[in-house]
Amino acid sequence: VKNYLKKIKANTRLNVFNEVFEQDALASAKSIDARIKSGTAGKLAGMVIAIKDNICYKGHKVSASSRILDNFTSIYSSTIVERLLAQDAIIIGRANCDEFAMGASNENSFYGPVKNAADETRVSGGSSGGSAVAVQAGMCHAAIGTDTGGSVRQPASFCGVVGFKPTYGRISRHGIISYASSFDQVGTLTKSISDAALLFEVMAGPDDFDSTLSHKPVPAAAEHTTDKGKKKIAYLQEALSSPGVDAEVKNTLINAIEKLRADGHTVKAISFEYLEYLVPTYYILAMAEASSNLARYDGVHYGFRSPNATDLTSTYKLSRSEGFGKEVKRRIMLGTFVLSAGYYDAYYAKAQKVRKLIREQTRKILQEYDFLLTPTAPEPAFPIGKKEKDPVVTYLHDIFTVQASLAGLPAISLPAGNNSKGLPLGLQLLAGGFAEEQLLNFSEYFS
Ligand code: GLN
Repeated sequence: VKNYLKKIKANTRLNVFNEVFEQDALASAKSIDARIKSGTAGKLAGMVIAIKDNICYKGHKVSASSRILDNFTSIYSSTIVERLLAQDAIIIGRANCDEFAMGASNENSFYGPVKNAADETRVSGGSSGGSAVAVQAGMCHAAIGTDTGGSVRQPASFCGVVGFKPTYGRISRHGIISYASSFDQVGTLTKSISDAALLFEVMAGPDDFDSTLSHKPVPAAAEHTTDKGKKKIAYLQEALSSPGVDAEVKNTLINAIEKLRADGHTVKAISFEYLEYLVPTYYILAMAEASSNLARYDGVHYGFRSPNATDLTSTYKLSRSEGFGKEVKRRIMLGTFVLSAGYYDAYYAKAQKVRKLIREQTRKILQEYDFLLTPTAPEPAFPIGKKEKDPVVTYLHDIFTVQASLAGLPAISLPAGNNSKGLPLGLQLLAGGFAEEQLLNFSEYFS
C-alpha cells in the first residue's frame, strides 16, 4: 500500500483519482497482514484495488465524476465492494471517469480529463479512464470499472492493459450508479489475464439485489489455464477495409490473423450485416435508459442543490442545469426525445427491434465460431481536446465495442503492442454468452 501511495503522489498530474483512501487502505493492510500471518486471509489478500467512482462503498464519497453528486456519501456498499472486501482486497481510492460513465475519453469528467501515462498529452480513453491509468502507471494492482458500451475495454486498449467485460447478468449491478441498465456490466482492468479471472470469480454470481443475474456456475479461477486447442475465429473484414480504421491498427489485426493461421487456427473474414446500425442502436437505447435513470437527481435526494433555487420547481431546474455537464444534458435531452409520445415508435421501439436482430445475428456467428476478433478501437489514444467539439465522431469510435454490449456477450481487450509513436494498441475477442472461461483461457494465447 505504501508503495502504491508513493506512486499515486508522484503522479497526481495524471489526475487518476478523485479521492485516495489513504488511512483506510493503510489500516486494512495492517489487519489483513495479521490474517495472512494466521492463515485466515481471503483469496484477494493484499490485492490493492482502485474502484471507478461510480461504485458505492459505504461511508465513502461517490460522485460519478459529476457535480450533481459532489460531496455525496454512500450509505451502503455495492455487492461487488462487499465481495472484494470479504476476500481481503484493499480499496485504495475512487478513480476518475467520464461523468455518469458517458464518454470514451474521460474528458467529460467534472474533475477534468485523465492523462495517458504513455503520452500525457493524450486521453486515457473512457469512461473508466482513471481505472485504466491507475493500472497502467502502477498506482494499484488492479482496478474495477464499468462497461456499458466499451468503457472498460476501450481505455484498456489505450493504456496497454487487459480489460475484461463479462456476460450481461454475471456481476451484480447493486450499488453501481446506473447509466443504461440493460447494458451496464462491471469489468476489470488488470495487467494479467489470470488476475481478471480471479476478480471475476470473486465478484460474479447471483445476488438477491439484482434480479437479472444468472444462476449458472461461475468458473473457478484455479481452473484458469492456457488453452492450446485449435480454434475457429471470425474477424470483421470491415475492420480492414474501412477508411476510418487507423493503418497501424489494421496491421496489428493482420499480424494477429497471420500468426493465428500459422499456428493452425482457422481464421475467416466475415461481414456483419448490421454493422452500420451498431452505433445508432446503442446510442438511442443507452440515452433513453440514461434519461430515465438520471431523473432521480432532482436537487433534493442527493448531492448538489443549487444555491440559487427559490422554490421546488427552481430547485429541480437549477440543480439539474448547474449540476449536470454538457454531455450528460445532451443525452438526457436526446433520451427523453426518443421516448416521447410521437417519437417512441420511430426511435426507441425501432432500436429495440434492431437490437434483437443484432443480438441474434451476433449469437449465430458465435455458434459457428469460437471467437470474434476485432480491434478494440479504430485508433490509438488521441490528443486531449481533439474530439471534444464533435460528439458524433466520438460516438463512432465505439463501433467495435458496442456489439458485445448490445448482444450482452463477454468480451476482452488484450494489449497488442505499441504503434510507431509508442502508443498502446488493443485487440478484442468476443465469445458466446457465459463462455468467460473459454474466453479467458484462449486470451492467454495473446499474452
Ligand atoms: N463510450 C460509450 C458511451 O459513451 C460507452 C461508455 C460506457 O461503456 N460506459 O456511452
